[in-house]
Amino acid sequence: MSTTPRVVIIGAGIVGANLADELTERGWDRITVVDQGPLPLTGGSSSHAPGLVFQTNASKTMTEFATYTVNKLKSIDVDGAWCFNQVGGLEIATTAERLTDLHRRQGWATSWGVQAEVVSAEECVRLHPLVDREQVLGGLHIPTDGLAKATRTVVALTRRAQARGAVFQGNTRVTGIEQTGGRVTGVRTDDAVIPADIVVSCAGFWGVELGAMVGMDVPLLPLAHQFVWTGQVPDLVGRNTELQEAGLPILRHQDQDLYYRERVDCLGIGSYAHRPMPVDLRTLPEGEVTEAAMPSVLQFTEEDFAPAWEQSKLLLPSLRQSKIDSGFNGIFSFTPDGGPLVGESAEVKGFWIAEAVWVTHSAGVARAVAQLLVDGRSEIELHGCDVHRFEDVQLAPDYVSETSQQNFVEIYDILHPLQPKESPRNLRVSPFHARQAQLGAVFLEGAGWERPHWYEANAPLVDQLPAEWTPPGRDSWSAKFHSPIAAAEAWKTRTAVAMYDMTPLKRLEVSGPGALDLLQRLTTGQMDKTVGAVTYALILDQVGGIRSDVTVARLGEQLFQVGANSALDYDYLRRHAPADGSVQIRDITGGTCCVGLWGPLAREVIGAVSSDDFSNDGLKYFRAKKVRIGGVSVTAMRLSYVGELGWELYTSADNGQRLWDVLWAAGEQHGIVAAGRAAFNSLRLEKGYRSWGTDMTTEYNPYEAGLGFAVSPRKESFLGRDALSGIGEDSVARRLTCLTIDDGRSVVLGSEPVFVNGQPAGYVTSAAFGHTIGKPIAYAWLPARLSVGDGVEIQYFENRVAATVTAEPLVDPKMTRLRG
Ligand SMILES: Cc1cc2nc3c(=O)[nH]c(=O)nc-3n(C[C@H](O)[C@H](O)[C@H](O)COP(=O)(O)OP(=O)(O)OC[C@H]3O[C@@H](n4cnc5c(N)ncnc54)[C@H](O)[C@@H]3O)c2cc1C
Repeated sequence: MSTTPRVVIIGAGIVGANLADELTERGWDRITVVDQGPLPLTGGSSSHAPGLVFQTNASKTMTEFATYTVNKLKSIDVDGAWCFNQVGGLEIATTAERLTDLHRRQGWATSWGVQAEVVSAEECVRLHPLVDREQVLGGLHIPTDGLAKATRTVVALTRRAQARGAVFQGNTRVTGIEQTGGRVTGVRTDDAVIPADIVVSCAGFWGVELGAMVGMDVPLLPLAHQFVWTGQVPDLVGRNTELQEAGLPILRHQDQDLYYRERVDCLGIGSYAHRPMPVDLRTLPEGEVTEAAMPSVLQFTEEDFAPAWEQSKLLLPSLRQSKIDSGFNGIFSFTPDGGPLVGESAEVKGFWIAEAVWVTHSAGVARAVAQLLVDGRSEIELHGCDVHRFEDVQLAPDYVSETSQQNFVEIYDILHPLQPKESPRNLRVSPFHARQAQLGAVFLEGAGWERPHWYEANAPLVDQLPAEWTPPGRDSWSAKFHSPIAAAEAWKTRTAVAMYDMTPLKRLEVSGPGALDLLQRLTTGQMDKTVGAVTYALILDQVGGIRSDVTVARLGEQLFQVGANSALDYDYLRRHAPADGSVQIRDITGGTCCVGLWGPLAREVIGAVSSDDFSNDGLKYFRAKKVRIGGVSVTAMRLSYVGELGWELYTSADNGQRLWDVLWAAGEQHGIVAAGRAAFNSLRLEKGYRSWGTDMTTEYNPYEAGLGFAVSPRKESFLGRDALSGIGEDSVARRLTCLTIDDGRSVVLGSEPVFVNGQPAGYVTSAAFGHTIGKPIAYAWLPARLSVGDGVEIQYFENRVAATVTAEPLVDPKMTRLRG
């Protein structure tokens, strides 16, 4: 008798079918897949998906999901008929800006291991003879892209899962989730309860409804997107058999928000060029599901497609001899940041979701979910997919609706990595916001917070910069969302004193009789220290991958303040807290605030407004204590992410503005400045301080990431410890490596491929101009065999930039400034 859990998968679309396949492949054989629609054509998005699979994505995870999907679908068929037709992908440029950006996309593909080439206009026409030579400037060719036949794939995977014992049940609508004591026990349908230990909702754009059954916010928006099939295109006649269907590459015309695929002698055209069309699920078509009538297919609104048709005839002149044969407004899911939604409900154990997933990523996401269920961890890191990545304010329906529609509008836009949302803004502001605005802060947005990037009030300092601090000019791309004022703010931080708003960094309060045990169990650091100790440590998963890095201050015997990275840490700690109530975990970020007061003159400033002892003896490096500053009660921590003397000063939100004002007034005679994220990022890279999510993730262990020092050698037990045994800094095969750029001026931005001896060997994580060292810095994942002094090349658009492996940290390796 099988002992694997009973799993009910809701939804037999491409995601549900893939998940059933992945779980049964891992030996789980008590799988029931239910769908409200008939099988295999359920009427969901997968039932009409044209199935273009373009793998290249800014995200490594999404690209790897796509590559897995390609390889898996290539290996299956239905009675000899293909599930994946590897015709290749061609993204064309009709503007100079797009052509330039295709080089950046080619860089991403290279970074993530997908072969891709920027080709000439002539080559575009050779690859896709329907394209008008006069319209294109060049293209990006990815030979391994292609067409997924979603409906056939569902059939193939269903058969395979059924052969391994899975049960598929159509015409079965889930109306409720059964639970007892905070755990799922089954799903309710119109006429039965199907018992389950685990329920996975793969309900696509119906996900919000399913989530609501367990009180879970599912931040997705169903939107309609237009797709048409043309009639016969004379130039395609005779090119394809019915079975083969297509031979020309799938085509993207991003300058006009359009894409194309062949179907025998016709073309399919998809358009994102129309207004966003949010869909209210209560208005979906009802009745029998057939190929012609599905709930996910709305009436074609011809007028919305008219400009797309004109543009298509310009790009593909053969279409002038054809016409639109049929069209529809098909529904699928969009999310606030464009990522999928994967994870388990925080409230109801055993209720999982895998939604807002494209056909492109379907097999990859399904494998990740299967690995999470069976092994407890996905080999591909998931922080950009985890449904718990959002802040509370980002779960509000209005926020989800506005940002998801914005993502629809921008789907093919050329977006700068720092480009902030235009709306909604000012959702979360720190208590210093009014002062920052007075100083001309240029705000970018992150997790709903307004975050000063630099301050225009510091512009006059740029003219005062000593020659060695004066930054070189930048190319137009890296100059976007940047100002040379950042150099002045970095200069003042290293030579005088600066105030940084650290409020948006996630802060958790962990308290209670079980607090110490919990933190001991989950982190790599020794937490059982005296009150006042601050410890930098890592949270690992069971194979030693880095889930997060935290700075833990012991503020009382049973009271800890955890400086964390994101909402994911809050979710993770709460999940691991004992059920007996001995630990309380609160997100105190919004109710508190933090000023980083840093620089060689920081002690002069604080000495003028506090009678507490801030000397080296009074508050040692990595210690915390309660103080008063200008009458405000403050928790001061002797830490600095920028590598200078100073403190993180925490107080409650109501006292924040006073704290800022008092420090500011005292600092004026010392030339204090407010400094923003641009300077901060540069200074932290000069010190080699890693940023979780960018520099390291669960895919890397502490030794690879250069964080072995954060693993306490004497601590006997913590999650992930056993997996690290036998691993050390010297035994790793890849390493997060510090590079400086040889020409002293070419700033890269992150995700660029790095070449060793002319071959792709890794990719850039974080990068910035190092103002103190007068050179750009890039951290990159590279083979560990590289040594200090070795030369590499970074691909930046179409250029290769020479860089050198450099010993780190680049500034103050003896820590004299920090400990000063
Ligand atoms: C016009 C159009 C073109 C697209 N083109 C592409 C493309 O070229 N490439 C690409 O990668 N993606 C494309 N997509 C997106 C892609 O189709 C979807 O993202 C994908 O099919 C979603 O798969 P899924 O399995 O999550 O959802 P679905 O296929 O919608 O499956 C969800 C299932 O859940 C079932 N369900 C819902 N509620 C319940 C309930 N209460 N009880 C039981 N069952 C329930 C539904 O009946 C449905 O069958 C396109 C989408 C559209 C609309």
